[in-house]
Amino acid sequence: MKQAMAVITTPVARMLQRLRAPSSKRVLVHEILWIQILSASIVGAFAIGALYWGGQWVLQDNYSRWALQWTEELNELGSPLYLSDDSEALLRLESFVKKYPEIGRVAYFRPDGTPLFSIDGDAELGPLTRLPESRLEDAKALVGNDQPYVLQSSIVSPRQFEILAPVWTESLADDGLFAFDPAVALTESKTELIGFVGMHLDFILFHDRLLANIKVAILILLVLLFAFALYGRRALRRALASISDLQDPIQELARGNLKVKFEPAEHREISDIVEALETTASALSERDAMLMELANHDNLTGLFNRRRFMEELNVELANIAVHEHSSALFFIDLDQFKYVNDTCGHHAGDRLIRKVADELLRSVSDEDIVARFGGDEFVILHCSTDKESAREMAEDILANMRRLAHVEDERVFHIHCSIGVTMINRAKANPDEIIAEADIACREAKSAGRNRMQFFEKSSHIVERATSDVGWMNRLRNAVDGDRFELRFQPINRIDSGATRYHEVLLRLRGDDGKLLSPDAFLPSAVRFGLMSEIDLWAIRHSAEAYAEYVEESPELRLSINLSANAFESDNLSDFVATVFEEYGVPANRIIFEITESLAVRRPRHVELQIDALREMGSKLALDDFGTGYSSFSYLQKLHFDFIKIDGSFVHDILNNPVDQKMIKLIAEVGREANMQTVAEYVQDAASLELLGELGVDLAQGFFVGRPTRRPLYKTTPISLSSRRNRRSWQH
Ligand code: C2E
Ligand code: CA
Ligand code: CA
Repeated sequence: MKQAMAVITTPVARMLQRLRAPSSKRVLVHEILWIQILSASIVGAFAIGALYWGGQWVLQDNYSRWALQWTEELNELGSPLYLSDDSEALLRLESFVKKYPEIGRVAYFRPDGTPLFSIDGDAELGPLTRLPESRLEDAKALVGNDQPYVLQSSIVSPRQFEILAPVWTESLADDGLFAFDPAVALTESKTELIGFVGMHLDFILFHDRLLANIKVAILILLVLLFAFALYGRRALRRALASISDLQDPIQELARGNLKVKFEPAEHREISDIVEALETTASALSERDAMLMELANHDNLTGLFNRRRFMEELNVELANIAVHEHSSALFFIDLDQFKYVNDTCGHHAGDRLIRKVADELLRSVSDEDIVARFGGDEFVILHCSTDKESAREMAEDILANMRRLAHVEDERVFHIHCSIGVTMINRAKANPDEIIAEADIACREAKSAGRNRMQFFEKSSHIVERATSDVGWMNRLRNAVDGDRFELRFQPINRIDSGATRYHEVLLRLRGDDGKLLSPDAFLPSAVRFGLMSEIDLWAIRHSAEAYAEYVEESPELRLSINLSANAFESDNLSDFVATVFEEYGVPANRIIFEITESLAVRRPRHVELQIDALREMGSKLALDDFGTGYSSFSYLQKLHFDFIKIDGSFVHDILNNPVDQKMIKLIAEVGREANMQTVAEYVQDAASLELLGELGVDLAQGFFVGRPTRRPLYKTTPISLSSRRNRRSWQH
């Protein structure tokens, strides 16, 4: 079997396609990185702010301590200068000022606030002015205090300060050397203000240094942030690599490639996602496979369906066009499959179809394509073959099918088939026409008697059949309307005594050329044209007429009339029979109706009712063609027949076929048990007749016993001694 796989774009695949990120979308790595850099910047800014604030605070603290220390030193250094022009003191003062760059100017004032002298540092300051009164007062108040100076910050710059401190001396209240009492001296010391010292301090230098440090800190922070960003990007990329790695396989998946391989992920979250995706992909591919199976296969048999078969046929047609070989297409129809369905139900029918499908697969080679077209129709594409091997293959299939026994509800069904074959070559390009040809050939095989194969012949059959069909229809119609049928009577004799028991009524059609046609030649067409039931009624009426005609010379006359399945199509068959019998004065118990085995097995409800009605009238019933299709002994008892007619195919070669002998013996035994008489058809010689007697068969019909004749003849069969000896006490 050829199998092919096509990629199906599933709805899920289309959904995945929509999920594919277009390039304008945000990038996860960048976003995470931005959040991190932003938070690092905020933290950095706070740190720098804190650094600045802390620096300021430390500076402030330092200022006041230095101011205190310097005021004290200047007090000491400056006080001698109030008394004399001590040049040494002046030098010390100058070097002091030089030592501290923060000191812009040191100025000494007289107690009334007028400047005494000043020493300037590097700063460019204005001329020294008299101290304002208010400041003088403030400074004076500090004499003897712990806080030795007043501090005034500059309006121009917050880092510049003016410090003013009183310069004072302390002397003991009593300076008499001998009576010196340190305790008194301490409490009663006298302070004397000698002037003021002013200092201009400029800490801008420190502040600038602080700012410079902070700038460096900011720079370092920025460099760190940049390095962090670079590193973070790499680290994030690496961390998110397993997500990025999913991008390609997911896109592949979206394109419909369900065989895509996902790399195993290191991270738990991602490996969960990968696992979910893999499960999804495998579920999808399972579903695809299922859809594929549904789209291409018949779900009862698993064979290709019609759709897929037509695809394969098209491929083969293309092959033929290139390679110029020929192939064969078989159209196979099961003969009377519907009986199994009707009798045993649809499940039984399904089982049989599956069995037939298996048998067909076994009968063909791997290159051949077998498909089910629905119902009981199968097709086979037999590639690269000629007519002769196609015929051989068809014969093989027929032989295999004949061997196929199907047991259902204790019944054995022999399913045969009809095969129509058409050869495909370059001249044929239309697949539908090819199928139609094989179908026509199959129908011809059916009407030619089923269980056979038939080649499609364009020139002859189609035209011939078409015209002959129309011709046949008119002939049959006219025969029914114009009484062109004739009846023949074939005797059925007892084997033990050789006496005629009854006659079977057989139909003939007089042809235009005056020749008689046998029923096998025209009855299949009659069935096809829907004329069969009318023909049955015709036979019943004319049999009754014949009975009335011949009963006078043969009072023992009994007639057996064949009924087809179509006879039961009208619901009032028994009414018709009753009316006709009454019209011709036929006692119903002198008439036997023959019903084929297939119809008896099928036993649709309406048929059963009519059979019962016929039996109630007093007529007898015979089961015709027993053994041909649906034979089962277990149901023989259930059907109340008076006669079982063993099909001629078991009889005509009985002398050479021990299996047939056994079969007939068995039928005879079962028949006796079920109180039915057995009739053997096709008895063509004395030896067969004798053997049939030995096997326990009651009655015989056949050319040896008597050919069908215009009028019922009575001719006792010559019987041998041995069969006389076998004469049985059981008699009817
Ligand atoms: P069947 O009912 O099985 O009838 C027996 C057939 O076997 C008859 O063929 C008969 O002539 C033939 N036959 C009997 N003994 C021998 C023999 O020793 N050798 C040979 N070669 N043939 C023998 P026939 O008359 O051609 O009928 C064929 C079939 O046509 C019948 O088979 C029956 O199914 C159907 N048929 C005939 N007449 C009627 C009828 O009036 N109504 C219906 N519905 N069917 C009929
Ligand atoms: Ca018959
Ligand atoms: Ca028969």
